[in-house]
Amino acid sequence: MSSLLILNGVAMLTVRSEDVCDGKPKVKALVLLSGGLDSLLAAKLISDQGIGIDVVNFATPFCLCDHCSVDRFVKELDIKVHRVYLGQDFLDIVVNPPHGHGSQMNPCMDCRILMLKKAKELMKTTGAEFIVTGEVLNERPFSQRKEALLHIEKDAGLEGRILRPLSGNLLPETIPEKKGWIDKQKLLSIEGRRRLPQIDLARKIDIKNYPCPSGGCLLTDPRFAQRLKEHLQHDKGLTLQDVFLLKIGRHFRLGETKIIVGRNEEENNRLLAIAKNREMSYLEAVDYEGPVTLYLEKEKTDFLEKSAAITVRYSDAPKDIPVRVLCRISSKELLYMDVTAVDDKEIVNLRI
Ligand code: SF4
Repeated sequence: MSSLLILNGVAMLTVRSEDVCDGKPKVKALVLLSGGLDSLLAAKLISDQGIGIDVVNFATPFCLCDHCSVDRFVKELDIKVHRVYLGQDFLDIVVNPPHGHGSQMNPCMDCRILMLKKAKELMKTTGAEFIVTGEVLNERPFSQRKEALLHIEKDAGLEGRILRPLSGNLLPETIPEKKGWIDKQKLLSIEGRRRLPQIDLARKIDIKNYPCPSGGCLLTDPRFAQRLKEHLQHDKGLTLQDVFLLKIGRHFRLGETKIIVGRNEEENNRLLAIAKNREMSYLEAVDYEGPVTLYLEKEKTDFLEKSAAITVRYSDAPKDIPVRVLCRISSKELLYMDVTAVDDKEIVNLRI
């Protein structure tokens, strides 16, 4: 592995023995490795051509993957991994993507551009000459069409420097091909959504335990997308804290107030911790097991009674008699209410 030294303000790339081939420094590539099968195959194909690789693994607040396959892969091949978290800059794109959303709230075009721009910065420090991705032509209806792939690399300032080995024979020649750094004969012509060629190839080059393709990104989940859209109709911005809350509990809209009702002990503990840390109001049934309900409104308390009735609805308490509910208002004031559970018809209309 090589590393960057700064001497008297001058950046120098130091080269170690594993970066050298026949006395010459190995050409190096930076692989975008999500951990899905396509990117694992792309990394392996390029590494097998004698190209030195580092990998970059991006995570967003909407990632569902556990990154285990990335960890296994880099450990097995002894590769350096750079982990990059896309935080608020990514959230701003989700709210207002210049190229629009995909089928749900996924801004795939702009997400890829952002990732590639970050990867371009990493090329300087790693000494990588080009970037490798596991993208497959037409695997996704919009962002992986040929024109989209070329537009994305142009916007990221990486024209000709992105090699997509799985579909390389179907795409314009790239700089690493022109320079003869990689063997063009070994690039593939995979296209479309059928994944049989990739599964077949994985068997041949002995890649096992890869995650299923449906995992990945919450922004493509219709239920979550609906929740996020509803949030943006009431609140123009999106913060990491908002996303954290959007991912847990059952959500209800009462006028302009939103409440979040925990679904299990873990969520209850998280909601309680937020309420305490941020001095927010929350409710709990007094004599029965049940949810913690976070009340996301600091000033107004108009909907406390309705929130209490929803809390009872999801508790173990009887649903046809008044039940005592404790409401802790902004961690200072305690209020007890005796309420009957809200009925099922009404709850459907309130649920986000
Ligand atoms: S599915 Fe999600 S992580 Fe993947 S490119 Fe689209 S927005 Fe980005």
